Amino acid sequence: MAYGGRVTINGSGSSSDAVPTGVGRTALMVAAMRAAETRRADRLFDDPYAADFLQASGGDPFGSENAGGGEGFADIWANFANYAPIRTRFFDEYLREATRGIRQVVIVAAGLDTRAFRLGWAADVTVYELDSAEVLGFKQRVLDGCGAKPEGRRVAVAVDLREEWGSALVAAGFDAGEPSAWLVEGLVSYLTPEQNDRLLGAISGLAVSGSRISVEYLHVDAVALMGRAMSVAAGEDVESMWSGCGIGEASAVWLDRFGWDSEAFDAFERSIAYGRELPPPGDTPIDRFTAAARNGFVIARRR
Ligand code: SAM
Repeated sequence: MAYGGRVTINGSGSSSDAVPTGVGRTALMVAAMRAAETRRADRLFDDPYAADFLQASGGDPFGSENAGGGEGFADIWANFANYAPIRTRFFDEYLREATRGIRQVVIVAAGLDTRAFRLGWAADVTVYELDSAEVLGFKQRVLDGCGAKPEGRRVAVAVDLREEWGSALVAAGFDAGEPSAWLVEGLVSYLTPEQNDRLLGAISGLAVSGSRISVEYLHVDAVALMGRAMSVAAGEDVESMWSGCGIGEASAVWLDRFGWDSEAFDAFERSIAYGRELPPPGDTPIDRFTAAARNGFVIARRR
């Protein structure tokens, strides 16, 4: 997987035609869920490019050829497919609300997230997307092929989030003197607690008082189950890339340590609010995943 170095600004200069590999492939898996949700009549959001990413990658990593890869895994995937649209919708609403005042958005580990194209941003909002050069290059190629135009300003910045990345973001135009809204979705499981601490430390150093952040919290059991399920669906060892199993403490405690005041939202409660109630948890590993998903999301404000 290629990390770092290049900065792609406002859609120019895509770096790679390759389909993402390794941990970058997980971005395709999330895109597959968004494509499936977009096909539903009762969809919780509309992602017009998710299916294009899959097509460009040569197929759906959740396709029938990958079904039944192990006992219970199809069910785990079904549970994740139930949960993921709740998460997407929650973060969509968080960013819409945050940008009523804030003009800079940073999507950390953006993957194939197309929020820069679909949330109705004002022209003076800049959306920075951080991910690897490989993922951002593939993404740009597909978006260019679709003739996609961002609603506000979109700036893609290729970095390795395990290393120092703040200077690349600032070089790309991010103003650390102005408030910012951050989203960390589907990343912390891939990093060690120490790498996550460095990541949040860097974010906190760039976020002035009044800035916002939203993160997902998943129980470590859920992370382990998901890693195994992803390995089955991807046909490769994704689980071994889940080096850290997250942040190692409750999200609110973690954020408080770095100067953020949090509010927690329960995924199950949100699912009812969105008219897509998550099934009640029982006592099987699959049910534990569902229960863990109930840990939900946190929105925090920089003190
Ligand atoms: N947030 C996106 C979403 O929900 O659709 C993508 C989530 S995907 C599960 C994880 C993403 O994290 C991938 O796009 C991967 O490339 C990125 N990622 C993981 N480790 C990274 C690192 N060290 N540096 C940059 N990106 C990384």
